[in-house]
Order: sequence, then C-alpha cells, then structure tokens
Amino acid sequence: MKRIGLWIGIGIGTAAIAVLTVLLLTTCVFQNHRFQPATCTEPETCTRCGVTRATPLGHTYAPATCTEPETCVRCKHTRGEALGHAFASATCTEPETCTRCGITEGEPLGHLMTEATYQSPPTCLRCGITEGEPLVAALSDTALHELEIGKPVPYTTASYEDHDVDVTGTVEIADYETIAGNDVFPAREGYEWHVATVRLVFAGDDAQQNGMQSALTYGDFYATDAEIGTTVDENGLRPFVVNWYGSRVQCWQKTGPDEEADWFGHELRFTWKEGVLVPEGYDGTLLIFYNYRLAKNADRLFLPAGDVLDENALVFRMK
Ligand SMILES: [Zn+2]
Ligand SMILES: [Zn+2]
Ligand SMILES: [Zn+2]
Ligand SMILES: [Zn+2]
Repeated sequence: MKRIGLWIGIGIGTAAIAVLTVLLLTTCVFQNHRFQPATCTEPETCTRCGVTRATPLGHTYAPATCTEPETCVRCKHTRGEALGHAFASATCTEPETCTRCGITEGEPLGHLMTEATYQSPPTCLRCGITEGEPLVAALSDTALHELEIGKPVPYTTASYEDHDVDVTGTVEIADYETIAGNDVFPAREGYEWHVATVRLVFAGDDAQQNGMQSALTYGDFYATDAEIGTTVDENGLRPFVVNWYGSRVQCWQKTGPDEEADWFGHELRFTWKEGVLVPEGYDGTLLIFYNYRLAKNADRLFLPAGDVLDENALVFRMK
C-alpha cells in the first residue's frame, strides 16, 4: 500500500512537472515573455502573447540632401522632400556646380579674351585672367638717345642765318613734372599734363656769328605711325592721337611761353615749357629734338617722328 502511494505520488509529481514545463514553454503565465527589440514604430513586443514594454524608439532622421529627403537611419522611413541642388553659376573655368554636393552640370563658359594692346596683355573680360604679353612697342628695339632730367647734352642743329651750316650747343630737360593743369596748360577730366622745362644753350663762336634754329617734334614710343597735328587751335593746343588700351584717344600738345630767350653774355639761352595732355598714366609720348636742316621751314617743324628719328635725334620720353 505504501509502495502504491509512492508511485501515485511520483506520477502526480511528474505530471505536474510536465504541465509546468508545457506552460513555461508555451505561455507567458510566469511572465516569461519573449520580447522582440523595439523598432521605430513598435515598442518591445512579446512574440508569444503580444504584450508590450516601454515605447517605440521613434525615427532617427539623417538630414535631407540635394537628392534625398530626411531618411530614418534604421527603417529608411522618409520625411519631407529632397532639397534639390543649389547651383552656383558657371564661370570661365568651372561648370554650374552645386554648392552643397559638388555635382556639376553643363560646361565651363571659357574665357572671353580681349586682343592684346600696348598697355595690356590679352585679358578675360569676365575673370580678368591674362595670357601672354602686351603688344611690343614699335621703338622698343631702337637705340634712342634719351635725355635725362638735369643733364645737358650736345645738340647740333642748323644755324639761323644759313640752314646748311650746323651749330652745336646743348639741350637739357631742366625739369619735368606731371600736373593736372594750370594757367598755361588747361586741365581736362581724365587727363594729365606732362610738362618738360626745356633749356637750350648755345655759346660757341659759330652760334655767335650765325645764331641757331632749334627744331622739335613729337612721336610715340608705341606706334611710329602716330602723327602730331600740323596746326594749333585758338588755345595753342596741337592735337595728336595715342593708342591707349586699344582705343584711339585724342591728346594735345602745347608749347609754353619763353621764359628765357636772349643772349646772356656769350650765351644764347632759351628756356620754355613743352607740355602734352595725355590720358592719366600714359607713358609713350616722345619729345624729339632734331636738326632744323631736316625741316628747313618753321611751318613744318612738327614732322612725323619717323622722318627725324635718326642717330642724331635727342629724345625725352615723357613718362
Ligand atoms: Zn508574452
Ligand atoms: Zn525609422
Ligand atoms: Zn547638390
Ligand atoms: Zn575668364
């Protein structure tokens, strides 16, 4: 009897264990839930009984880009719109380019090059880049006898009495200045006066006997075909034209009144000012002293530079 009771006890015990095991494995009666991890939109959820715990994670959005809206890094859910590209205009060397993502569209514009001038190399009108060199000045390879300020140099010209007889004295640029204008040299907007004080001194016996006849004209360092007018207007202004950054620009010359024009002892001395009204910064004007014998006529003193620029001519570059 006792033995039977033992077996029944073991049977009940075993059945109970089996039932408990089944309950444990197939239900959540012991709060033994099997939670799946939370997602953006669902909290932790028991796969067996559906009970939930805590709250959904919520989306974690990465910022929108040019081509993608805000997008959840976990579930790829999107919000709003893509930003679209923010294109900066094309330049000479770069196509249209998105300032955010760097994507490009189309082609660069390419440079808009100007022609070279005497003052500037070919230059892009849009971006200012330059290529190459300015035009070569016509006289850049010519050995000019250039006068220096304050240094008298021998100057040979025809005598006053006989144009076939040469006399030699000195010519000096006694002073040189750039001014806006004054009583003698009238100012003009955008222009400046380049004014040289010229001094001629003739002291030899030949000058004593025959006097002298000086001759000067103007030329241009850049273009030898630049010619100076043969007549002056009512204000004493003589027109000429220079090539300034590729444009023909009207300029004027004026000879100031004599400051000295006489014999001083054995010296025949002339001092006066020569001025040119040129665009601000122009550096090409040449004041040229030559032998009067080449002109032989006071009415045609302002000869083309090409006619008088020989090895005897003395030149002062008004720059
Ligand atoms: Zn459960
Ligand atoms: Zn998400
Ligand atoms: Zn973009
Ligand atoms: Zn350019």
